Amino acid sequence: MAPHRASATPTKDAERVRVLLPLPLAGAYDYLAPPDLTLAPGDYVEVPLGTRQVVGVVWGPPVGDVDPQKLRPIARRFDVPPLPTVARRFVDWVAEYVMSAPGAVLRMTLGSHAGLDPPAPVTAFRRAAEGSADAVRMTPARRRVLDLVADGLARPLADIVREAGCGASVVHGLVASGALETVALPPAVPFSMPDKDHPRAVLTDDQRAAAEKLAEAVRADRYAGILLDGVTGAGKTEVYFEAVAEALAAGRQVLVLLPEIALSAQWLDRFAARFGTRPATWHSGLTATRRRTTWRAVATGQARVVVGARSALFLPFAELGLIIVDEEHDAAFKQEDGVIYHARDMAVARAHLGDIPVVLVSATPSLETAVNAETGRYRRVALPARHGGASLPAISALDLRQDPPGRGRFLSPTLRQAVTDALAEGGQAMLFLNRRGYAPLTLCRSCGHRLQCPNCTAWLVEHRLAGRLLCHHCGYAARLPKACPACGVEDSLAACGPGVERIAEEVYALWPDARAALMTSDVIHGAADAAELVRSILAREVELVIGTQLVAKGHHFPALTLVGVVDADLGLAGGDLRAAERTYQVLHQVAGRAGRGAAQGRALIQTYQPDHPVIAALAAGDRDGFLAVEAAARRDRGLPPFGRLAAIVVSGPDRGAVDGVARALGQAAPRGDGLAVLGPAEAPLAILRGRHRRRLLVKAARRVPIQAAIADWLARVRVPSAVRVTVDIDPSSFL
Ligand code: ADP
Ligand code: ZN
Repeated sequence: MAPHRASATPTKDAERVRVLLPLPLAGAYDYLAPPDLTLAPGDYVEVPLGTRQVVGVVWGPPVGDVDPQKLRPIARRFDVPPLPTVARRFVDWVAEYVMSAPGAVLRMTLGSHAGLDPPAPVTAFRRAAEGSADAVRMTPARRRVLDLVADGLARPLADIVREAGCGASVVHGLVASGALETVALPPAVPFSMPDKDHPRAVLTDDQRAAAEKLAEAVRADRYAGILLDGVTGAGKTEVYFEAVAEALAAGRQVLVLLPEIALSAQWLDRFAARFGTRPATWHSGLTATRRRTTWRAVATGQARVVVGARSALFLPFAELGLIIVDEEHDAAFKQEDGVIYHARDMAVARAHLGDIPVVLVSATPSLETAVNAETGRYRRVALPARHGGASLPAISALDLRQDPPGRGRFLSPTLRQAVTDALAEGGQAMLFLNRRGYAPLTLCRSCGHRLQCPNCTAWLVEHRLAGRLLCHHCGYAARLPKACPACGVEDSLAACGPGVERIAEEVYALWPDARAALMTSDVIHGAADAAELVRSILAREVELVIGTQLVAKGHHFPALTLVGVVDADLGLAGGDLRAAERTYQVLHQVAGRAGRGAAQGRALIQTYQPDHPVIAALAAGDRDGFLAVEAAARRDRGLPPFGRLAAIVVSGPDRGAVDGVARALGQAAPRGDGLAVLGPAEAPLAILRGRHRRRLLVKAARRVPIQAAIADWLARVRVPSAVRVTVDIDPSSFL
């Protein structure tokens, strides 16, 4: 029988694979594996795309509907452990949940800084084996080098140059003349193993009991959602460190998510005190080299503990065994651009997929988490008291109607007196106002014109320290004009309302001798600045701190006895679903900075509405009562967590085109069983970065698969390329 060689297919299935590319619009494509390359799912490969070479990940068996002749070959496989199955399932799961392309999610795993190639070996120098040093023309510098390497050890160039006090050319000259030889050393290990048995604080009975429950969940090695619920200063960090130690003992990696990792110097110090070494960190402030090293150390399992901002969730962990989400209620966990996702919620999903425990930590849990703990979906592990006998600060509302600050001033007489007293008693004080800059609005006294951003529906915020007007939405900057741009009258522009810089001005006038410092993102540009400010506060070089919500985050300042909230009503304005909840959380957290040491602390909250449920609950310390009222209100209206929401934002440079798409979406909107669409309506930020914006809001019962309904709906409306439609599942911003 004659073999039909000519008709034999050139490729078998085994030689074709599907590769997912980390590109925003891409799905997975089929490629051909060269015969000498055995590939498995998760392998990182380089493939041609158009005229470029791009990195991708082998995602599974081929789709198979492309003519094999047209398939292009995979160029190479990288020498790095494959992306584990759980991590790949996580990428697919997140993509489906947030309605984003899987390639866009994979991009968060790969970034442009994946350490795919092994680090280059370090070149070192040592005495040549066949020593021909005698033949070398000797100079004093050469002598010093040869004396140094006489022990036969290999040293990197920089070490020789430093220790022998010579130039690099001396070393190279000795290589050329045969007295030295080069050797390749393995690169330095970037992270050392945290020592779980490092000497540590002795836990109190309550803390020990809580730590034991967490450790048990880690040992069980199964999914568990746990709320670690305890007042500020209860020692939650010390407690979850024990869970970290347990996971390390079990040979697993740990991920700790913090809302502001770049500013968490104190946290890193505490970790080092507990485990004898610093953890790997992951945030936008890392250098490209550091990112590559860290990424690879996570993938190879060399980094055991990673602490990071939300994006750390997508790192390619080799053997993740525990996730901690500290300050789980924090709004910073929501990513608002690119792939729009909530890192806390995705962390729970990741724990589910990996069948590992996740610990959500907070003194003021989000309503979602509180309800989950209430219904038993999460276990609650409680820490009822502050550590070391410190008591919670007494919180009281200051009614600004009774106790007005005076014209052009923002601190009421009572608050001023309290600050004076706190400083006189040797304590530190903190004034909190969640607004950057000097004044949120600049108004013409002559014609009433307000200075507005040319690109956004937003006022320009005066930043007096920087001598500029800034748009907080798009970054537009301008000088403060001498004359009103509308009526031309000179020196008529007046600052309206306070930002922290203006409070600082009032502070300098009231307490000229007090050492005061501003703490905002305008003066703190990263981890080093934050660490320096924290140090100066701890060293009592600063007595009075004025800051935005940066001051609220996790800091432990034992001598701080007074917290003053300049404007508690700020966050309550506007109809945001979570305005009340967030205000409660932020004010509780900032008040909790007071009285963490031996002295009793107090917090004074300036407000025009002392009877508002949020303020009343704060003053009464009735968190659970407040949450219960909030929960009841949301249940009645079918709002999260009792129902689902998704926001659809239509945007584009052309107003008519945007309106057209928004209207078409409104007309095609699905209606019916457990699903309603509200809008379209002009967004509160009707123009952002020059783009017009319209919003629609999808409201659905929990049982409704909202993603499928939205996908089906959007597929029925034609969207021109100049208009963008973004979907925000579980929105937290309604701007
Ligand atoms: P939380 O995270 O609940 O706000 P922390 O973990 O920051 O509380 O603890 C508050 C302070 O008390 C920290 O300075 C911490 O080091 C200290 N602390 C907590 N528990 C202990 C303990 N068992 N022994 C010694 N110090 C402790
Ligand atoms: Zn702007």
